[in-house]
Amino acid sequence: MQMGTNLPKVGTYNRAVVLEAIQVSDGISRVQIAERAGLTAQTVSVIVRKLLEEGLVIEDGSLPSQGGKPRTILRVDPSAGYAVGIHFDPGAISYVLADLAGEPVAELHADVRPGLVPEEVIRLMAETARRMLRQAGVPDAKVLGIGLACPGPLDADGVMNYPPRLSGWDHVPIKRLLEEHTGFPVTFDNDASAAAIGERWAGLARSTPSFAYLYLGTGIGGGLFLENQIYRGRSLNAGEFGHITVVPDGPACYCGNRGCVEAVCCPSAIEATVRARLSEGAGSTLSGGPADHTAICAAAAAGDPLAREVIDEVAARLADAAVSIVNMLDIDLLVLGGPATRDVAGIYHDVIAEAVATRPLARRLHRVQVEISPLASDAAAIGAASLVFHATYAPRLGALTS
Ligand SMILES: [Zn+2]
Repeated sequence: MQMGTNLPKVGTYNRAVVLEAIQVSDGISRVQIAERAGLTAQTVSVIVRKLLEEGLVIEDGSLPSQGGKPRTILRVDPSAGYAVGIHFDPGAISYVLADLAGEPVAELHADVRPGLVPEEVIRLMAETARRMLRQAGVPDAKVLGIGLACPGPLDADGVMNYPPRLSGWDHVPIKRLLEEHTGFPVTFDNDASAAAIGERWAGLARSTPSFAYLYLGTGIGGGLFLENQIYRGRSLNAGEFGHITVVPDGPACYCGNRGCVEAVCCPSAIEATVRARLSEGAGSTLSGGPADHTAICAAAAAGDPLAREVIDEVAARLADAAVSIVNMLDIDLLVLGGPATRDVAGIYHDVIAEAVATRPLARRLHRVQVEISPLASDAAAIGAASLVFHATYAPRLGALTS
């Protein structure tokens, strides 16, 4: 049943609402916060005074107003807190040290040496995070925590469960181990949800109530923000867009389904398709070269006919999935991002935008924006850092009743 709530929780919630209004704006006055958040001027004024005292928010110039006195502009103080975001991908680990505004202060990428056991990889993550903080001169007292974006499936305790493409990582309590090695609290999520939260905190979805993130990495995932709340599902694994069927009776997918968008559109599937056509004699600048995903995307962008043909086919299948996502969720915005969009984001964007403008049932009622993430291939690492800010500061309806 629905739970009731008590006044102290309302106070904490309103504080988070005000802080979020400041964070998602590019400078905002107290009057504007009251209008947007539906709070009284007095409530906003009391909360802002506290945020100023705590040093989370700063006053930054003023706006002229009609008649009355000028309105003071409020911003989040970027130096009020920091988080290290770690994106753990089967092939590489990306690190971002981000300030409270979600801006990267330092970045680092490291390959995962094959053969390392989980304990060694986690120790390496901890050492690297510590080194980044030392080099940037950020004291421990300013570190809000570490955000970790991992390939799913994950469980609620921060344990990895049968992650595809990572043998030896089943039942690894990665959250607890990283906390032990760093001494900082660790907030974790799957990479696609982290990317969505990064887009909400620091990217282009800062003021969009409902959006979906289509994340293209080693695999294909998704993140969901519905009516201003992250939606994680029963087991933290909502938004597995990669496993929407787009080829009836298509190839078997490791997930247990057939013809999944991931089974035909992920980098390894793209490589397999190109190699098969090369062996059938298709002409391409890729023949004789490595024909890996990076080379294929670069060739498609440069107009190579075979690479472009395959990428166009992938774009069409992604568009099929996008139409299903839009029909199911009735969102305002679909964000496209992740490392596997490099060089081909524009091609994917145009095909998907055309599909969601012409095929969903509700297309005449409102337009669905399709945008390429400005956070680019670091989306999951910046998102991982944003996980910490989001967990610390974002207004969560659940917190009212928990
Ligand atoms: Zn699947």
